[in-house]
Amino acid sequence: MRAVASEAPVSGASVEEIPHLIDGGLRPGTSGRTSPVFDPATGRRTGRLSLADVAEVDAAVESSRAAFEAWRETSLARRTKLMFRFRELVDDNAEEIARRLTAEHGKVLSDALGEVARGLENIEFACGLAEHLKGTYNERASSGVDVYSVRRPLGVVAGITPFNFPAMVPLWMFPNAIACGNTFVLKPSERDPSAPNLLAELFQEAGFPPGVLNVVHGDKVAVDRLLEHPDVQAVSFVGSTPIARYVYETASANGKRVQALAGAKNHMVVLPDADIDLAADSAVSAAYGSAGERCMAISVAVAVGEAGDALVGAIRERTSALRIGPGVDPDSEMGPLVTAEHRDRVAEYVAIGADEGATVVVDGRDAEFDGEGFFLGVTLLDHVTPDMTVYKDEIFGPVLSVVRVDTYREAVDLLASNRWGNGAAIFTRDGGAARRFQEDADAGMVGINVPIPVPVGYHSFGGWKDSAFGDTTIYGPEGIHFYTRPKVLTARWPDPSGSRVDLGFPTNR
Ligand code: NAD
Repeated sequence: MRAVASEAPVSGASVEEIPHLIDGGLRPGTSGRTSPVFDPATGRRTGRLSLADVAEVDAAVESSRAAFEAWRETSLARRTKLMFRFRELVDDNAEEIARRLTAEHGKVLSDALGEVARGLENIEFACGLAEHLKGTYNERASSGVDVYSVRRPLGVVAGITPFNFPAMVPLWMFPNAIACGNTFVLKPSERDPSAPNLLAELFQEAGFPPGVLNVVHGDKVAVDRLLEHPDVQAVSFVGSTPIARYVYETASANGKRVQALAGAKNHMVVLPDADIDLAADSAVSAAYGSAGERCMAISVAVAVGEAGDALVGAIRERTSALRIGPGVDPDSEMGPLVTAEHRDRVAEYVAIGADEGATVVVDGRDAEFDGEGFFLGVTLLDHVTPDMTVYKDEIFGPVLSVVRVDTYREAVDLLASNRWGNGAAIFTRDGGAARRFQEDADAGMVGINVPIPVPVGYHSFGGWKDSAFGDTTIYGPEGIHFYTRPKVLTARWPDPSGSRVDLGFPTNR
């Protein structure tokens, strides 16, 4: 079952060369370095991605730098019109974007369409750019003096994105950044680059000038060049905690504004009075949906008191009915993991959990699959304790750990002592307990009977503690804040009543 990924393409099938998109056109890579792209459902190599060298990154940044001045001066009316067109094109092409997501990430098509829908929310928010960019104005701060503030764009902004939401996470960034008058260089994940390329092509088709959005593919070489490039003013990053910390520290040291969203270990607290069917349904979809490869996935269920046995039983029952298969099959509810290496690492965590004393209620390693896709069954671990590796590490796969505690207080203390603080949820029928939890939960996004509380596009997204570095969360109002800097103007005009010709201005003001 766990065959190593084939390095060869399907016999007779072509391996697509995936180019950069620089200055309005698709540009084949020139570095000579490439990285394979796989279809995780078959294990076959389907693409070869060009990995940029420093010169290619510089070309992308130069294109964005050259486009910045004219774009900054483009009227809000024109920017809005183009953003609406882009929104329509993404909506019209939602199925093709989703198809590319499934082909390279592995998530099931319905999930991929959901990703596009969540991305569209961010474009729709950016369409309101004229409203978001309204300044403030005080008349008569002093006699004859008015004070007003406007928000100005920064210049070239870079975005570095993870594999797990190859369309949505770029859409968290570049529509808002560009709406604000910046130009943007996107460096997507090298695992699933085709959906971001399509988004960039649609962006060009909408009529945005060349260079306003560039896409440069690559690995650490490209990222490092963006982090040090003197013409990059700000960096938005989403990915794992160690790389987020590195990006935050490196880009800040180079004088850039940085927001770096990172890994997670999201807890779902289930009180004894909870609707156990709702909690179990929610746990199954939030832990195993997208093969657990979501930064807002539930990876720990904290069962309080007598909720434990009922919850574990209800989740186990549901796992046996879960249909795991290729994302293109409409019957599949969960697809493969993104790479063979990642699948094997997740399977290894199950073994570690068993060794460390967790009860393996459902063992994903037992599931059988045909072919060479990167599939793994779902795992349910019970009686997990905070000292275990499976509790301490971000596994980022279809593994749900159940920690049992006696009281609500122990549950919130557990959340508080965890190094991450992305999302947290509570399941209860008690409004007072829920209200208490919304204050107590040590996390940036909290759900009440909602397992994955990803904020809508007109709020902002971001975690606490090791789940985010930098002080501004992403998209929504905080996105506009991040992608602009304030300019405050103080203006005095001589009173016209003092002019030599009397035009009848009042003199007593
Ligand atoms: P990753 O950190 O491996 O990669 C993210 C980006 O960083 C990619 O573009 C990659 O090319 C680049 N990168 C990787 N290694 C690098 C290095 N050594 N130096 C410079 N750049 C490097 O993350 P991933 O595996 O693609 O994504 C999964 C992770 O992202 C998980 O930890 C998940 O929790 C996190 N994530 C967080 C959020 C959030 O909003 N907090 C959202 C999605 C994903």
